[in-house]
Amino acid sequence: MLESAIPEVNQWLVKNGFVRDTTKTQCFSYLGSLKCNHIDVPIEISFVELSFKELPEIYLLDPRPASLCRPLPHVEHTNKLCYLDAETYRVDPYNPVQTFVNLLGQARQVLVDSLSGKNTNDVGYEFSAYWGCSLRGITLSKHQSGDFIRYNFIKYFNLAGKEQNLIVIGNDDEILKYINHKNAELTFSKNKNAIWISLSTTALLPYRGLWPPKHFNDFYSWLEEVDSNAAKTLHKKLGTKDGTQNRLLIILETKGGLVGVDVKIPAEEFIQNSGRFRKQLLLDKGKSRIMLNRVVIDDLSPKFITSRNIVDKNLVSKNIVLIGCGTIGGYLSRLLVQAGAGQGNGQLTLYDSQSLSSGNIGRHYLDENYLYENKAEACVHKLQGEFHSLKINFFPREFLSMNDARNADIVIDATGREPFSLSLNELFVECHNKNERCPDILYVWIDGNGYCGRTLYYNGKDSGCYRCLQDLSGKDKFPPLKSENDLIPMTYQCGESYVPYPPSVSVQAAAIGLERVLEWANGNIVHHFSNRKFHKKAREHKDQSLTVTSGCPACQK
Ligand SMILES: [Zn+2]
Repeated sequence: MLESAIPEVNQWLVKNGFVRDTTKTQCFSYLGSLKCNHIDVPIEISFVELSFKELPEIYLLDPRPASLCRPLPHVEHTNKLCYLDAETYRVDPYNPVQTFVNLLGQARQVLVDSLSGKNTNDVGYEFSAYWGCSLRGITLSKHQSGDFIRYNFIKYFNLAGKEQNLIVIGNDDEILKYINHKNAELTFSKNKNAIWISLSTTALLPYRGLWPPKHFNDFYSWLEEVDSNAAKTLHKKLGTKDGTQNRLLIILETKGGLVGVDVKIPAEEFIQNSGRFRKQLLLDKGKSRIMLNRVVIDDLSPKFITSRNIVDKNLVSKNIVLIGCGTIGGYLSRLLVQAGAGQGNGQLTLYDSQSLSSGNIGRHYLDENYLYENKAEACVHKLQGEFHSLKINFFPREFLSMNDARNADIVIDATGREPFSLSLNELFVECHNKNERCPDILYVWIDGNGYCGRTLYYNGKDSGCYRCLQDLSGKDKFPPLKSENDLIPMTYQCGESYVPYPPSVSVQAAAIGLERVLEWANGNIVHHFSNRKFHKKAREHKDQSLTVTSGCPACQK
């Protein structure tokens, strides 16, 4: 049905002055122009089919009108016009002509905004798309403008066995850790110097000159034009001993990502005197065989990985103790790390005395490779293999006393074992009663045969303790199931007790654990008790404060 619309679209395009380019056989290509503020802008529009899964591509054609003869916002170095966000656009494939009217209207708007200068600042937020790079790099940490840091090229094999080359930026220690982590080889025996320059402007395209810059003189002239302060900082650093090198990376931090130039100076051209070196570099237009490779750099700093998805406060620089690395704790340990635990000045500490058995693997973060290994140690090992820079440690034993939580800001009990949680509750209640420094505690567990997940937060104030989940006689205040008959009765079993439920239950319980920890980090835990129903047999309970049980044998003695 969609294909049958092609004659209709063809007719509309022709009526609007477009001519089919029949030399292109792989796609439908039309040449024509868009009228923008009385100026005809020549364009090519091409598409393969009309489902609009992919947007029709629009390219600016040469010669451009004089007022658009410069690098333009939303025009890539291939002349392709980015007229809609590829992730979020909406179209109606059942009305293809109207869709074309809308899409071309959008493209026209982008060009009109370019003519008026309205979208000049957009460039700063997507700058790496305009840089037209030949090399890729990653940075392991972020730095201040004017800082000297280090870089090297690394070589490794990807999963398809193909050799990959990558620039790695960081301090010497970070680079060494990263190549070990990645099982990669360094290209230079000694790391080289890099200069970190931050740009404050977002209007980053030049009004004149070659784009993108090919020689050092083009590069420096462009930098001077768009951000003279950044150029001054670079000028100063190039005139120092550390900046006088035959191989040098200049990193530019923009609001739309990191780019850079890798500068290679032939040995015979290399000058020891810093002043003369700088002068020669700044004047170079390609005659001295100085090579300039443009680089797009991805941010692999823990800060970026964590803060990109969490707008509010994250868990960076928090001291977190996680007790229990079982089916909940294992998944939770990874979620905590993704939210910033083990980064900055903080530390993540795991406790578990058990080792991984074959029966655990079907619903555990740990996999077959960790069979018979201690669960806490294995989680640390696996996390360190997944994230390059973590402050995380473990104790392959039970959590014994408040000494084990001495520096913690929060303790998370993910053991899901009621007797253990009750004894832990004793320690925390006692600590509060003595007015000693006491971390907050969050209990996360699965209840009612795996039909619901629950959390309880306790900070010694305002609400009940873990034992206050029951009344004096030991009856649950929040029965997990609608009918008690659905509860699987206790059995006599040697070794680990076991209730069958799928990994989805563990993952959801870990997820509500993380939700509460993030609320805690932001100081806005409103409801101390929360309950999530995973099954129709589970009972609904609102999130609420936990009232203290009058005469609670734990907190009211
Ligand atoms: Zn209590």
